[in-house]
Amino acid sequence: MGVARFSLFKIASSHLHRMHHPSALRQMSFASGLQNSTIFRSQGLIGGQWVAAHDGIWNFFRFNPSTGEIIADVPFMGRRETNDAISSAYQAFNSWSKLTAAERSKYLRKWYDLIMSHKEELGQLITLEQGKPLKEALGEVSYGASFIEFFAEEAKQVYGDIIPATLADRRLFVLKQPVGVVGAITPWNFPLAMITRKVGPALACGCTVVVKPSELTPLTALAAAELALQAGIPPGVLNVVMGNASDIGDALLASPQVRKITFTGSTAVGKKLMAGAAGTVKRISLELGGNAPCIVFDDADLDVAVKGAIAAKFRNSGQTCVCANRVIVQEGIYEKFAEAFSKAVQNLQVGDGFTEGVAQGPLINEAAVQKVESFLQDALSKGAKVILGGKRHSLGMTFYEPTVVTDVKSDMLLAREEVFGPVAPLLRFKTEEEAICIANDTNAGLAAYIFTNNVQRTWRVSEALEYGLVGVNEGIISTEVAPFGGVKQSGLGREGSKYGIDEYLELKYVCLGDMNRK
Ligand code: NAP
Repeated sequence: MGVARFSLFKIASSHLHRMHHPSALRQMSFASGLQNSTIFRSQGLIGGQWVAAHDGIWNFFRFNPSTGEIIADVPFMGRRETNDAISSAYQAFNSWSKLTAAERSKYLRKWYDLIMSHKEELGQLITLEQGKPLKEALGEVSYGASFIEFFAEEAKQVYGDIIPATLADRRLFVLKQPVGVVGAITPWNFPLAMITRKVGPALACGCTVVVKPSELTPLTALAAAELALQAGIPPGVLNVVMGNASDIGDALLASPQVRKITFTGSTAVGKKLMAGAAGTVKRISLELGGNAPCIVFDDADLDVAVKGAIAAKFRNSGQTCVCANRVIVQEGIYEKFAEAFSKAVQNLQVGDGFTEGVAQGPLINEAAVQKVESFLQDALSKGAKVILGGKRHSLGMTFYEPTVVTDVKSDMLLAREEVFGPVAPLLRFKTEEEAICIANDTNAGLAAYIFTNNVQRTWRVSEALEYGLVGVNEGIISTEVAPFGGVKQSGLGREGSKYGIDEYLELKYVCLGDMNRK
């Protein structure tokens, strides 16, 4: 089949009632405009061409998690298409890496401008395929675009060094050069930002990229790639393939032309990629799962702690790697906090992301809901108590009630692994030492949050936490200007900030001898 079958919102009869709802109408109007939109693409991008899978397989439907309706189908690609994409990235590297930094910067700036001028459409696309509330989706577009803008500037700041020589007739230089072709594998929870956070710095310093977005959210990635083409970024510099994840991953790992793998996703897949990269000794950056502690001390400002903990826990319905996974509360404030927190959580409106005022969309799929249910079941069987929510939402589909659980202990699954859903487990502690011990008792080390009004404690605890990011009296801390990344099994390397570009650069030492010869 040569042409994409675009199955525009096949409204199932069980969802007919939604058609009269304002959010359904909004979805419909966006969906009907989508087909004609200048950013909508449903094929892979290889060497500047929009292409189908070699074998013509298309039945790879994308669903709206809020309604179950089909949005579009995209090609199911594998090794062959990935190898084509690698070849075109390899060819494009030759010329892209030789442009001046200022030239690459201009392309990126243009791309940034185009993303921002299509902010509304991109936000709607994110809500449509991922489910997060439109306000959050629009926030993701700005956040995602900020990495392109930031690295457009950083492109011009890649300096080398001159090292004072140890012998009089020598001169020693350090050059920074792009690593080469990069394979970027990204998850569904931030369909745009997890891509731009990698592609921005990679392109800025002269690398070319093959992106593999999640099978659950390819349309945002393709729309961003279309805007890159519209910005004039040359064919082959940015390629997108999707389909069979392990085949695509294996092709990227096996190719000696791919010099780096950058991955955001689960720790289990990250470990596989790390092992696979050994075969060709590739550079590797990993942004993996977290198990964020959110520590509330007796001396915290209750309102600040409640607001911060809610932001850290319930953003994207609890489906972020930096989501507070354990709310660890000191005994003196435990009851007061539990009451104020669950009261505030109760006010979070659940519903379709296109509905005004909705703060909690659906979970990404049925497996995500079942994971939440099994974690909760484990906690309840070990003595935890649900004080709010605790079940599927009456809206059906994959909506789940925002949930607060008390009397959670460190041996429960809820405290040991990422629940990746709208469930806040409350644990209790007595002393600062105990809080640090509970917080660090995990293989993960991505984000941590503390709420306290004691300045000395802020420093002591921030230094003692084995985490890559610490938020103090703040639940939302990601920004393009600060380094993002984990320690322990949460990953390797940093994204964003002036440090982020180093992941895509090699250092080359050049020794010039015989200086005194005339
Ligand atoms: P995932 O299952 O690991 O998937 C991530 C990506 O890897 C997807 O594109 C997936 O493709 C692909 N993939 C799966 N198996 C693969 C294989 N064998 N070889 C190559 N690629 C493979 O993770 P997810 O469920 O999408 O995302 C949630 C996880 O990401 C959570 O653990 C979260 O904490 C983590 N995360 C971390 C960060 C961070 O910055 N540290 C940010 C966001 C999310 P398909 O989807 O097509 O199967």
